[in-house]
Amino acid sequence: MVKENLAQVKENIICAARKAGRDPSEVTLIAVTKTKPVSLISEAYEAGIREFGENKVQEILEKQPQMPSDLHWHMIGHLQRNKVKQVIDKTVLIHSVDSLRLAETIEEEAARKGLVIPVLLEVNAAGEETKFGLAVQEVLPLVRQISGFSHLKVQGLMTIAPFVDDPEKNRPIFRELKKLSVDITEKNINNITMNVLSMGMTNDYMTAIEEGATMVRVGTGIFGERIYDNQ
Ligand SMILES: *Cc1c(COP(=O)(O)O)cnc(C)c1O
Repeated sequence: MVKENLAQVKENIICAARKAGRDPSEVTLIAVTKTKPVSLISEAYEAGIREFGENKVQEILEKQPQMPSDLHWHMIGHLQRNKVKQVIDKTVLIHSVDSLRLAETIEEEAARKGLVIPVLLEVNAAGEETKFGLAVQEVLPLVRQISGFSHLKVQGLMTIAPFVDDPEKNRPIFRELKKLSVDITEKNINNITMNVLSMGMTNDYMTAIEEGATMVRVGTGIFGERIYDNQ
């Protein structure tokens, strides 16, 4: 099942990129494995996937030692400052930096470990109250504050769009994130690049690609529905 789903998702990515006149190789698929067992992750790995996303530090810590070392983990969920130390050397990219304090903690821990940590700034582009992320107008001030950090490197922006039936409803959000990244790029701020736009999930990744996504985070579309037990 995972293999067939992946083939479909990859085909959709190619279609969406071509439709927008983009090269499909500009889009990286991140397989989101939260709540899913390593047996399913292995199926995706065997089908060639190397980029995996988790939204909880605990799940990365559990799964990472059980999987081959050429697999790349992306931290896509809200990151608490007290967990930074445990996770920064296990991930290739943290998608969810949403405050100066979190950025400072990453900078400190990375300095201690002698690392430079690539990050994205999470933007709550839809302004949903229930979501983490920076308001659009907070992004540039934060970028300026952290551009001097030497152990943290901002590579772009991430957003989690609302859950909608019709992906067209999220198009303006994707467009706004793209525009924000272009505006920031034009400011030529030291140590800041905006090459990565992490946006689009199972329901809307094709629309996100049409609007410029360079990373899409797909879970359900590859691994099926998630079952959460209420503990
Ligand atoms: C769960 C999750 C996804 C994947 O969602 P699907 O709708 O299952 O594709 C993407 N991004 C983040 C941040 C998530 O938490």
